[in-house]
Amino acid sequence: MVDTQTTSERPHVAAKRYIYAWGAGTAEGNGNMKDLLGGKGAGLAEMTLAGLPTPPGFTITTVACNDYFANGKQLPEGLWQDVLDAMKQVETRSGKGFGDPKNPLLVSVRSGAKFSMPGMMDTVLNLGLNEETLAGLIALSGSERFGWDAYRRFIGMFGRIVMDVKAERFDEPLEHAKAKHGADAKDTDLDVADLKALVDVFKQVVREDTGRDFPTDVYEQLDLAIKAVFASWFGKRANDYRNSQKIAHDLGTAVNVVTMVFGNMGNDSGTGVAFTRNTFDGTNELYGEYLVNAQGEDVVAGIRTPEPISQLKTEMPASYDEFLKIGRQLEKHYKDVQDLEFTIERGKLYMLQTRIAKRTAEAAVKIAVQMVNEGVITQKEAVERIEPAQVDQLLRPQFERKALAAAKAINTEGLNASPGAAVGKAVFDADLAVEWQAKGEKVVLVRVETSPDDFHGMAIAEGILTARGGATSHAAVVARQIGKPCVAGVSELNVSYATRTASSSKTGMGFKEGDWISVDGNTGRVYAGALPVVDAKFEDQPELQTILGWADEFARMAVWTNADKPEEAAQARAWGAHGIGLCRTEHMFREGDRLAMVRGAILVANVATRAKAKAAAGEALNADETDAVATFDAAMAKLEKLQQGDFEGIFKAMDGLPVVVRLIDPPLHEFLPNLEDQLVKVTRAEEHGGASEEDKILLATIKSMHEQNPMLGLRGCRLGIMIPDFVKIQTRAILNAQIAVRKAGGNPIAKIMIPLVGHVNELKATRTLLAAEADKIVAAAGGVSVDYKFGTMIEIPRGALTADEIATEASFFSFGTNDLTQMTFGYSRDDAEGGFLLKYVEDKILPVNPFQTLDDAVAGLMKIAVDKGRSVRPDLELGICGEHGGDPESIHKCEKVGLDYVSCSPFRVPVARLAAAQAALSTQHDK
Ligand code: PEP
Ligand code: MG
Repeated sequence: MVDTQTTSERPHVAAKRYIYAWGAGTAEGNGNMKDLLGGKGAGLAEMTLAGLPTPPGFTITTVACNDYFANGKQLPEGLWQDVLDAMKQVETRSGKGFGDPKNPLLVSVRSGAKFSMPGMMDTVLNLGLNEETLAGLIALSGSERFGWDAYRRFIGMFGRIVMDVKAERFDEPLEHAKAKHGADAKDTDLDVADLKALVDVFKQVVREDTGRDFPTDVYEQLDLAIKAVFASWFGKRANDYRNSQKIAHDLGTAVNVVTMVFGNMGNDSGTGVAFTRNTFDGTNELYGEYLVNAQGEDVVAGIRTPEPISQLKTEMPASYDEFLKIGRQLEKHYKDVQDLEFTIERGKLYMLQTRIAKRTAEAAVKIAVQMVNEGVITQKEAVERIEPAQVDQLLRPQFERKALAAAKAINTEGLNASPGAAVGKAVFDADLAVEWQAKGEKVVLVRVETSPDDFHGMAIAEGILTARGGATSHAAVVARQIGKPCVAGVSELNVSYATRTASSSKTGMGFKEGDWISVDGNTGRVYAGALPVVDAKFEDQPELQTILGWADEFARMAVWTNADKPEEAAQARAWGAHGIGLCRTEHMFREGDRLAMVRGAILVANVATRAKAKAAAGEALNADETDAVATFDAAMAKLEKLQQGDFEGIFKAMDGLPVVVRLIDPPLHEFLPNLEDQLVKVTRAEEHGGASEEDKILLATIKSMHEQNPMLGLRGCRLGIMIPDFVKIQTRAILNAQIAVRKAGGNPIAKIMIPLVGHVNELKATRTLLAAEADKIVAAAGGVSVDYKFGTMIEIPRGALTADEIATEASFFSFGTNDLTQMTFGYSRDDAEGGFLLKYVEDKILPVNPFQTLDDAVAGLMKIAVDKGRSVRPDLELGICGEHGGDPESIHKCEKVGLDYVSCSPFRVPVARLAAAQAALSTQHDK
């Protein structure tokens, strides 16, 4: 196709060029001009240039729309004259006359913005009809019914959209007229007399509601319709949609004036929409539907049930073949699946629209792989085309495909606010949801909108459904945060707390409290009943694996995982992780009977540690001290053995790949009972004959360890400095596990990570302590090579700011962005997320939750640390292991900061692989 044919023979008088025409095989615009012509206008121009059959017409640009508003809702100077000239050209190209009673040209006036906004703006069809041209249309079509039907449709549509008459003022008489033909009568049952009567009633309605007659001057109709389409850009539906989709409000819409072609001129006519491939499951076949003897709005409005597009092959084989060929041609040209609108008028096919087709995640991945195999796109383009959220969707439980295809959605529109499939009984308030859930019911919380008061209900619900609110509404933000499927902003859903019912104003379907419903957070659709749900398996999705394999080729950063158990490590490895970036050892302290062992050690830890220092200084120990040391050492020895076993399991699962083991991090009180609980226990026991000695000691220990700000207290490397045995046994366990696995023929790669370092001396002291321990193990290893590296987490702002000093003692840095965010913002990571932070995000005080998406200032600290660290140690290995390591937007920031790898939870690994590749590719593009 030609890309740059933009010259025009048509003179224009406006100061700017506002109009681009097409038709008769030539076009003034082209497919690259979406900013100016909108998607529809650019597509029509491009199709015309390609020699495809399009009805002649012209596009009034998005600039004209913006100038119209800037001009106080007046057409800018000269534009109307240009419209008149362009209409002359359309008349010549179509061979018809606008307002000509003998050979009338009718046009559609259609909105068309740069980004597709389906159904959000307005379109008027059949414009150019009045009593005179109607007679001409009837004569040309040979059908009186066709003519009157077109006329009543036009008055209804124009009246509603352009003259602001309420839809029900036309719907009621229409329903009334149909009712005369029986309860289930359709539009098509109306005869000429009905339609004529309806036209009279419609005109009367217009007169009553607007105080003026329906305009008969075709140019006045055109003028008013153009302005109405401009105005629909700032209509409520369009504004809300742009807000939800983050589309800028200043783009404006183009207006397309297009020769009408009629799919309702008999049984050799028809109209339909089709995709060049199946956008539901990705099969390479034409996918769509059409209606014989119908206008486009009938397909969209669902008035009659359309036929599958495959049926066209037998019904109108020539048109089908031509359409198939055109579809292939357009797909090749746009290098993507096309969403096509067509009309067949008396056996002649017209293409009305082509645009990139929206598709399910499954279809997106399958089609991308197909297109690479067909040589249509490159592997790089395939990787860039898939959205990380689609990969996420493919790995979450989903509705069983066949059941989903057979189900009819309750709603026609709704925001897919948080992915996944949820099935439960509808409950209309949070307290009741909690009550039902406690009785073992599965519930879906249904609210007009949610507020912080609903949180307890949201937390236990399978999914959430709201009638109001966009992508950053409370429901959407919370649902994503707590990982619940959510459909938000279903404005057509009337939720009544009084009657405990909800019903769609569009489909008439609904449900009452206690009914089973199924909520599809991937598509924004809600279904009655309990649809079957299936687990999505990575192993069963070869195309996804193929795409991610390509992604790995383009990524600069590697993807590692945060895993504490061999099973998790194995799963992450199967999903493509290339190492463990964070093994949190304290999780191993909490399992089974280990917790009792750890508690026993903690109870005597301080006494034993002080006693050991005394003994080292040559002082004698008393009996209590000797006992404490013995108890402590025995517990530590057991723990060491157990941890060694854990590490052996992980090294085996990650054979040949690096494993970063972090030494104990949390404050010790996390291993002890809660202070208040223990206090109550002891006090009660005292009242009833006395508490046990053990409980009293435990209480005293908890009290002695109590801190006002434990997250800023005795944790991380501070703990190892105060009670060295904890980290000494961990180091021994790591290295002895390595020796054992190596002796068994494995290739374990261990890295020891010291957390929460803010000053280089903390690291130096810990490292010296542990290196001495390591030396002893190396000496005892009998020649088996023991290799290990010490590194640290950068998760305190001071650590980041002094990274050049810290790098002298560390061979790697891993950014702990959970703590780094907490300490940079001064927000407690445990308390903020359920509280003020939600309000901050809802009210846009913060653009995003900084614990989910890396904040720029935190990324700035990381950059400082990276630069300073590398300045003293060029081969410093750099990664991230905070939650942000699995968030696509944060991964882009990590790429810019220059990390070597990101590490995230196992189930985020596939998403991170794609995001890492896209980050590398977009950074290359930027350069
Ligand atoms: C962090 O702080 O980002 C981190 C990974 O460590 P943790 O969440 O265990 O504090
Ligand atoms: Mg941390």
